Amino acid sequence: MMIRKNNVRLGGIKPEILLAAMICKPIVESYGVPFVITSLLEGTHGAKSLHYRGLAMDFRTREIPAITKKRDCRDRCALALGSEFDVVLEKDHMHVEFDPD
Ligand SMILES: [Zn+2]
Repeated sequence: MMIRKNNVRLGGIKPEILLAAMICKPIVESYGVPFVITSLLEGTHGAKSLHYRGLAMDFRTREIPAITKKRDCRDRCALALGSEFDVVLEKDHMHVEFDPD
């Protein structure tokens, strides 16, 4: 099951991000933690953020205990998603965006 926080809405997301969520979910779950999307179009992001265009998502990383495992998770997601996606380990979440340029 894919979990979203209560205030996270699916409306407006692009298929690239749906696909990214489906690819990242089993990777995150392999650490024994749930895959929880914390932001799609909502939230406050930079003015040019791809979040506002439905081309970015954030998911929770706080339940992955070790920083080395968070980095490992980032690397595995990036490898699985390919070069059209950017995967950034932020302080309290993982940011994924579809940015083929
Ligand atoms: Zn983000």
